[in-house]
Amino acid sequence: MQRASNIGERLLDIKSNLPDTVRLVAVSKFHPVEAIQEAYAVGQRLFGESRAQELVPKQESLPNDIEWHFIGHLQENKVRFIAPFVALIHSVDSLKLLREINKQGAKCGRVIPCLLEIFVAQEETKYGFTIQECEELLQSDALKELTHVEIRGIMGMASLTEDEQQIRGEFRTLRTFFEKLQREETLPNVHLCELSMGMSHDYTIAVEEGSTMVRIGTTIFGERTY
Ligand SMILES: *Cc1c(COP(=O)(O)O)cnc(C)c1O
Repeated sequence: MQRASNIGERLLDIKSNLPDTVRLVAVSKFHPVEAIQEAYAVGQRLFGESRAQELVPKQESLPNDIEWHFIGHLQENKVRFIAPFVALIHSVDSLKLLREINKQGAKCGRVIPCLLEIFVAQEETKYGFTIQECEELLQSDALKELTHVEIRGIMGMASLTEDEQQIRGEFRTLRTFFEKLQREETLPNVHLCELSMGMSHDYTIAVEEGSTMVRIGTTIFGERTY
């Protein structure tokens, strides 16, 4: 293995502090292919992107053994571009979007793994289902018919605040809900095993509160320029 770059060093440092049960999604959005290659060089194979028009060219120019996750708000008219290869969509925030993912999954002969995004933060701009909407969807006939999607868990973002108790409380709400769902009987296309929560500024709290996947960008790749 090559000598680790700064990106590589930061990534390995984060990884060494994560429990084995937590997967690291390296969030490479707005960073160039070269930055992803530095992370790849130290063994990272799981990357997260938030825009289809950025993800597709990266996927085409980087090695095939990378697992690409979609983490941002996904527009329905973009689903078809990522459907052939996306390994997990973290951010399903409406039934309408799920139907489109199902349609595109059918077209390319895939069952596309998805997480339902749950809204727990205080900000009003965040996308997602409420807990009640999510419960209803998971029991619905509408979902039963979508045989080209598989619901693998839930995703959430905590409020953007310095208040650790607030953040912890929101993550705990997600975890409690996740565990409740896991105890309930579910549809054949629902297998709840992933709880995606935690970003650069709050992932240590998320891990303490039971996250199975953290999505970390800035701490690995540096600040993004939009
Ligand atoms: C950008 C993004 C992240 C990564 O955020 P950082 O603060 O850079 O770690 C994680 N999750 C989602 C949904 C994002 O859009």
